[in-house]
Amino acid sequence: MKEEKIDLLGKTLEQLQQLCADLGFPRFTAKQLCDWLYRKRVDSIDAMTNLSLANRERLNSVARIGRSYPVRCQVSRDGTKKYLFGVETPAAPAHVETVYIPDDDRATLCVSCQVGCKMGCRFCVTGQQGFHGNLSAGDILNQLFSIPEFEQLTNVVFMGMGEPMDNLDAVLAATSVLTSDWGLGWSPKRITVSSVGIVPGLKRFLDESQCHLAISLHTPLAAERLQMMPVERAYPLADVLALLRRYDWSGQRRLSFEYTMFRGLNDDQAHAARLVDALRGLDCRVNLIRFHESPEAPYSTSTPSTIKSFQDYLNRHGLTCTLRASRGQDIDAACGLLAGRQ
Ligand code: SF4
Repeated sequence: MKEEKIDLLGKTLEQLQQLCADLGFPRFTAKQLCDWLYRKRVDSIDAMTNLSLANRERLNSVARIGRSYPVRCQVSRDGTKKYLFGVETPAAPAHVETVYIPDDDRATLCVSCQVGCKMGCRFCVTGQQGFHGNLSAGDILNQLFSIPEFEQLTNVVFMGMGEPMDNLDAVLAATSVLTSDWGLGWSPKRITVSSVGIVPGLKRFLDESQCHLAISLHTPLAAERLQMMPVERAYPLADVLALLRRYDWSGQRRLSFEYTMFRGLNDDQAHAARLVDALRGLDCRVNLIRFHESPEAPYSTSTPSTIKSFQDYLNRHGLTCTLRASRGQDIDAACGLLAGRQ
């Protein structure tokens, strides 16, 4: 059973101010808590030495930091690491995966925001597991804070298990901690949040956050997308693109589209031409992803030459297009393979 204590990690300054008021602490204590939690990253309340002993005891009686260390780490041949974290969902204890991807002068962490996922994308191992619960903002931040590589991190992407727009309160609270001056003070340019395109969530995200956005597109054809991604029924890609066109993408915030290449399905020139049409006039880029085959998904990988032709076609027609390197495939850490299995 979950310990009935408040997790401090993941709380915003405003939430900590409320907690301090409830406990009868001075208002400035909330700023001190932020400093200990987010700048000094302590893992015990007793380490917060500028709080009086009485206040530390009071805080210990109702709250805990909310940190938990990974229960497993797998290391790929290419240096990618996959961490497994235990989390407590309302239903049962579960696990989520987090992937650390070092790359020359960058080190990216791919975090999960849900245990499983409701979206059911047919090419995704997470999607085939169903949904088992939301992570809290603290659970999300713990994936950064509790790995040994925290200091090396340059970027965070919300592209692990789960759909961020389906757990938006927690995702926005976590990104707020990362980007606020009372938190880590990161630039929002260091954070990318991905989505299959849940329109109401996207609208709120775009209004409330300056982080980069990546949309999982995968095919420009509605009927085909519906076969792969059930979300197309409720929120067609056309509606997603109409929403995105209402925002300005010429500034700091970047819009990208993720396009996984499936052999014989979405990888020919006709698809490339439709994609160019669909994205015409939008300031964006396209990231091609090699499909990583798994027994759970009824698709296969496009050939390297097909991917190259597709990429060249987009680039020739004015769409900036890159091929995302596959990382950590030997430890099932690559895109679409996260399962949270222990
Ligand atoms: Fe969920 Fe993303 Fe997998 Fe789709 S691709 S099922 S949204 S985790």
